Amino acid sequence: MTFDFLIVGQGICGTMLSWFLHKEGKSILVIDEGKENTSSKVAAGLINPITGRRYVTSWMIDELIPFAKETYTSIGSYLGHNFIQEKGAIDFFTSPQMRDAFVNRITEDDTYLHPFPDQNHFNQYFNYDFGCGQVRPAFIVNLSGLLQAWRLVLKNQNAILEEHFDLNALQVTEDGIKYGEISAQKIIFCDGITSMNNPWFELLPFSANKGEALIIHSEELINEYIFKKGMILAPLQEQNMFWVGSNYQWEFEDDKPTEKFYEQTLQHLKNWLKVPFEVVAHKAAVRPATVERRPFVGLHPHLPSVGIFNGMGTKGTSLAPFFANQLVQHVVHGLPIMPEADVHRFSRILAK
Ligand SMILES: Cc1cc2nc3c(=O)[nH]c(=O)nc-3n(C[C@H](O)[C@H](O)[C@H](O)COP(=O)(O)OP(=O)(O)OC[C@H]3O[C@@H](n4cnc5c(N)ncnc54)[C@H](O)[C@@H]3O)c2cc1C
Repeated sequence: MTFDFLIVGQGICGTMLSWFLHKEGKSILVIDEGKENTSSKVAAGLINPITGRRYVTSWMIDELIPFAKETYTSIGSYLGHNFIQEKGAIDFFTSPQMRDAFVNRITEDDTYLHPFPDQNHFNQYFNYDFGCGQVRPAFIVNLSGLLQAWRLVLKNQNAILEEHFDLNALQVTEDGIKYGEISAQKIIFCDGITSMNNPWFELLPFSANKGEALIIHSEELINEYIFKKGMILAPLQEQNMFWVGSNYQWEFEDDKPTEKFYEQTLQHLKNWLKVPFEVVAHKAAVRPATVERRPFVGLHPHLPSVGIFNGMGTKGTSLAPFFANQLVQHVVHGLPIMPEADVHRFSRILAK
């Protein structure tokens, strides 16, 4: 079997990459072992234009949002589902200082930050003492639904092998790769955190980051907004279901859910929510984050038949569509990849 591209991994990176290659008419084979606790399956799928306690605008967000919106809408029409919803994000201030920081930022830049007119609007659902503001537009993407629906298309086109990819069975030359009976012009690794142990890319400055989430059920909670008070509470597509998270752990023993996160989050919810709820699931995964918080996109500087599409960190939902398209435009039409994302910036490290 001969393909243009062999793609390892079908998280949001492998999904977006295979979508854009498919649109270019390229033949692809995806190999994904179907692990459950992967970053894309545990994520909330939020696109939030604002980052951190100082309400800074996220890197490249003015370009990323329209591109992501268009991409999720068009893959959604192809698959017959709507995967992206625009929702305002309500930020409940955790202190008077946070409220002041929000108000001050609005005076500097009000593109995404807005006052919320009725400060008592959420009183029946939440405890909040210092008021709230709104981040708009924000989006929630049903990543699990998208991955599942795209996987079905790949299956119907015999374009996916649902098995473990064994690096030891890969043969790489300057002109292409062989993997058992499969040959391809290029292999592109979209295997998330697994790339940290990939002999071609293990020297890249990854910074693995574990995160956890609870899935809760509540009949009385409203689903018109994404809510934030220390943690994020985001409505899921399933009725009355909400995603609650997350934390950022740089040191961890394994990728399993922890008792500590469960207890802390439960306590936080009991203090925050005025309506009854029950926890229905507890999940954890490791984010493929990077030291300089920029993705790894492109072909190996010294072995161009091997590529990587990775390092999305905490922002895979907004970054993956844009950079998947850049990578495809690069490998198909020779267009450049943005230098800040291009893996060629590590040319010297990758020569070792
Ligand atoms: C708790 C949590 C919350 C998050 N919330 C958000 C959010 O709201 N918004 C946002 O933008 N980002 C969020 N993220 C980050 C986001 O999930 C990641 O940036 C993104 O999912 C990374 O996608 P990926 O495709 O690179 O990796 P993954 O999702 O890990 O996909 C890798 C795929 O490769 C497969 N694979 C790996 N090795 C092999 C092998 N040897 N053989 C076969 N298959 C293999 C795996 O099965 C998997 O399907 C969150 C992450 C976590 C953990």
